[in-house]
Amino acid sequence: MHNALRGSIVRLYREGNPQENAEAKLLESFDELWEGELCADSVEEERLAAQGRRILSEFAAEFVAERPAALAADMSLTGELCGVSMVAVADLVFAPAGEGQPVVVMRLNSRGRPPGPGELSKELSAGILLLLAGQHLAPEEVKVGYYCLRPGKLVEVSMSDDAMAHLQHVVTSRVKRMRRETEFAPRKGKHCRWCRVRSRCEIWRR
Ligand code: SF4
Repeated sequence: MHNALRGSIVRLYREGNPQENAEAKLLESFDELWEGELCADSVEEERLAAQGRRILSEFAAEFVAERPAALAADMSLTGELCGVSMVAVADLVFAPAGEGQPVVVMRLNSRGRPPGPGELSKELSAGILLLLAGQHLAPEEVKVGYYCLRPGKLVEVSMSDDAMAHLQHVVTSRVKRMRRETEFAPRKGKHCRWCRVRSRCEIWRR
């Protein structure tokens, strides 16, 4: 469901003039992008599709009305971390609301239980977004947040110096591992349910 929600919202802002028929455009995109066949059964498919449509209707009424234009949608933020070139993707980027205000960089989140600020401050992906947004958009001041579609609120990402040091350590050790290892064996897990190459995956053929 997240891909269909994110894709619909990104398309709405990319095409410009998002306030015009926002709900109708979002729902049309959702129907096009929705992959019901990935659901466990028809009951789940129906439930999630209804949930997705409801989320987008609320988004059109509340969020789009407040933010009628974006600086960018689906923006790649590039920079360097621990000596390695990296990229993070921001779903929506908004211009400062006024003088002295920050550029707002958002990632959309559709988890049933939205993450809290404490959780985000420890999340690797959120930390990388925070650091790269600061580098890419410098000298602008930047505010980074996850916009949680359920229940429709922005949770800001911020990190203490300790959390920042830990993130640098994790990134460095992962980069070292990636350089050391060249083969990554598939690991069976819940994520396989959404995998597009499952029919060709060796671990499911055994
Ligand atoms: S099915 Fe996909 S996600 Fe699961 S182990 Fe295979 S390649 Fe990885």
